[in-house]
Amino acid sequence: MEVSIKHSAKLLSQANHIVLTAHIHPDGDALGSVLALYAYLSAQGKNVKMLLDDEVPRAFRFLADWKKIEQPQSVMTGIDLLVVLDSSDLERIGKVKDVVTAPILNIDHHISNLKFAEYWYIDSQVAATGELIFKLLKEMNAAITSSMATALFMAIATDCGFFRYANTSAETLKLASELVALGAEPHTISEHLDVKPLSVIKVLPKVLETLEIIECSQNGKIAALTLSQEILADFKDDTEGFINYPRNIEGVEIAIMFKEADTHSVRVSLRSKMVDVSQLALAFGGGGHARAAGCTVTETLGRAKTLIIDAAKQLLVKGLGVNDAKRDN
Ligand code: 5GP
Ligand code: MN
Ligand code: MN
Repeated sequence: MEVSIKHSAKLLSQANHIVLTAHIHPDGDALGSVLALYAYLSAQGKNVKMLLDDEVPRAFRFLADWKKIEQPQSVMTGIDLLVVLDSSDLERIGKVKDVVTAPILNIDHHISNLKFAEYWYIDSQVAATGELIFKLLKEMNAAITSSMATALFMAIATDCGFFRYANTSAETLKLASELVALGAEPHTISEHLDVKPLSVIKVLPKVLETLEIIECSQNGKIAALTLSQEILADFKDDTEGFINYPRNIEGVEIAIMFKEADTHSVRVSLRSKMVDVSQLALAFGGGGHARAAGCTVTETLGRAKTLIIDAAKQLLVKGLGVNDAKRDN
């Protein structure tokens, strides 16, 4: 059932054994939201665990308590509430769903949310789940420490491209301002996130060589990058910013990054300026936002590229914009 922020707060206050989780391949919003809520609930004396089906990516290993995030191993019993953050479907939490059996409270901002939980609090107008967690913490009169403010600022800032994307609202900036007043340091956060291993910089020429521009409609071009296993072998999983290269090319409407996970599985990232790419991602079992979405295609790299590029062409020909479809971002 749909719950309000007040009802979400009540569910949390009534639960004593709580597991917090978020989506696989966690990003700033997923991690920041989990860590901020963890800090509050554990300060309340509750028994709280953070479980994520992936390791914490290197860039985020400056946040307080990141080392307390565990990966699912054995089945857990006696859990009152599983809080699923920044995830639009149950598959997104990976193996966590296999080890925890408890009612789920889902707090999320994806327009593609499948409303899979017992309780859901979804607002697709906000830029980040971090905005919702901040509002929830205020609802609970939480004392917000500077490390909680840092986690929340990072959650919000990373999901709106540091306040540059279309999902940045006056409210987003207001909340960010409050977080800075509470001790978040934008420059420190951005320095941690901007630092990359040399190997990631050195692989850039190889990555950019794979750039393809597909002209198919007066509504704009498609630009795609392809990271084969061969290229990925040169560096660890640090591909976060690469999609911005095709995204920022003049005249490009849809940017796509293909990442070969194994011989029959390809991770696809989609970005757009106007068209609703969450529809495209949903059609392939994924999801996301109107202007940033993703999916996994269980095909060879070549076949996945053909399928996705064809679907992107169709979307472009239709030219269905964000404002024509459901409003998001
Ligand atoms: P990214 O391209 O950065 O991995 O993801 C962009 C957006 O799409 C994020 O909001 C992310 O949560 C969502 N997304 C990416 N992949 C998937 C997927 O496989 N399933 C769902 N439901 N959402 C996804
Ligand atoms: Mn996310
Ligand atoms: Mn998010």
